[in-house]
Amino acid sequence: MTAAPATRSRARDDGFVIENIRVTTVSVPLEAPLRHAIGAHWKRFVRTIVEVETRDGMVGLGEMGGGGQSAEDAIRGLLPLVKGMSPFDLELLRFRICNPTASLYNNRAQQHAALEFACLDLVGQRLGVPVHDLLGGRVRDRVPFASYLFFRYGHPSSGEFEVRTPEQLIDHTRALKEQHGFTVHKLKGGVFDPEYEIDCYQALAAAFPDDSLRYDPNAALSIAQSLRVADRIEGLRNDYLEDPTWGLQGMKAVRRPGLLLATNTVVVNFEQLASNVLDRCVDVILLDTTFWGGIRPCVKAAGVCETLQLPIAVHSSGELGIQLATMLHLGAVLSNLTFSADAHYHHLLDDVIDGGLMPYVDGTIAVPTGPGLGVTLDPDRLAKYADAYRRLGGYPYDRDPGRPGWFPLVPTTRWADPTDATRPDDPGLDWSELGS
Ligand SMILES: [Mg+2]
Repeated sequence: MTAAPATRSRARDDGFVIENIRVTTVSVPLEAPLRHAIGAHWKRFVRTIVEVETRDGMVGLGEMGGGGQSAEDAIRGLLPLVKGMSPFDLELLRFRICNPTASLYNNRAQQHAALEFACLDLVGQRLGVPVHDLLGGRVRDRVPFASYLFFRYGHPSSGEFEVRTPEQLIDHTRALKEQHGFTVHKLKGGVFDPEYEIDCYQALAAAFPDDSLRYDPNAALSIAQSLRVADRIEGLRNDYLEDPTWGLQGMKAVRRPGLLLATNTVVVNFEQLASNVLDRCVDVILLDTTFWGGIRPCVKAAGVCETLQLPIAVHSSGELGIQLATMLHLGAVLSNLTFSADAHYHHLLDDVIDGGLMPYVDGTIAVPTGPGLGVTLDPDRLAKYADAYRRLGGYPYDRDPGRPGWFPLVPTTRWADPTDATRPDDPGLDWSELGS
């Protein structure tokens, strides 16, 4: 059987086929450097903006991270594999780019995601419908988000924006709550000794007794430390404990009644999801439109989770407005989304899309309703932040500008010192965007 899908011939007839891919790396400032277990986000997000152009002149948008580095070459290199194919042919796109055997040599899940976003954007524009209508239709108009709290380095001169102590963390949380309306707070940990971080977490719980909480030390803890953390947060309003330790079996050793374990590290594909179904190690599956290779794989995984009563949430691996739109369309169609989504978005000072940053209202962001992803690029912002990338270059996500030479082990014992008020002044941090 060699019959071509009907959509392919239909699309080829009228020029709705992929002709070119434009890629632009941008560097968009964050309010302050965000510290995490592996390193830091160095005062900015480096993201690669993908524009897939059809022969008849339509443009679909995608976005990809890169660990602080550009992903331009990786995306551009896929053009020979997809040139001439219809954006409708999303299942064929998967096998052109992500053949599972070939992926042993070239793992292209994240590049596939960027192209899948752009193809869905194109198809939606072509049909005049938002992406969520292509995915079954939205069950909610707004997606709720958790505040995403990080320990942060302060301004090198004034110290402003620092989050290191429980008092600073509470002040920062209160400001975010007042500005955006968050009622769920996620603390990114793995920076300081977990005993200190749980002191901070408990202080949050006491300061915001009506809000719910999550702690995510990025799999930095040993099993023993994870069990100690689980003991100490018992009885608080925990949504879940996220990736305390590494590995499915590590998580299984920590899992206990009354405390859900969530992961965005060890169930990020269907093989791992199947393993977790056969041998339950984690409870909550955090669906990331990049890690899972696109929006559609996340929808498929959510269906599996719905059947098996595995809770889900929408994960953030860092985003500008295009990626955020993918998260919003995903969140819009998941009937079993009972937890707030994560986003780094409120740490950004600007965006590359028309209108700038999408607003939060009562801790939620409206699902775009325009055709396709429903967002468009602002050429001036794109040029401004592409220039910023050319000026600043990339940065290593897995290094900390405040601790030169440091790198973590897993599980780690190399904690930062919470009494150390170092404010790194590395040129790569670029505070100039704040006018300093
Ligand atoms: Mg996580």
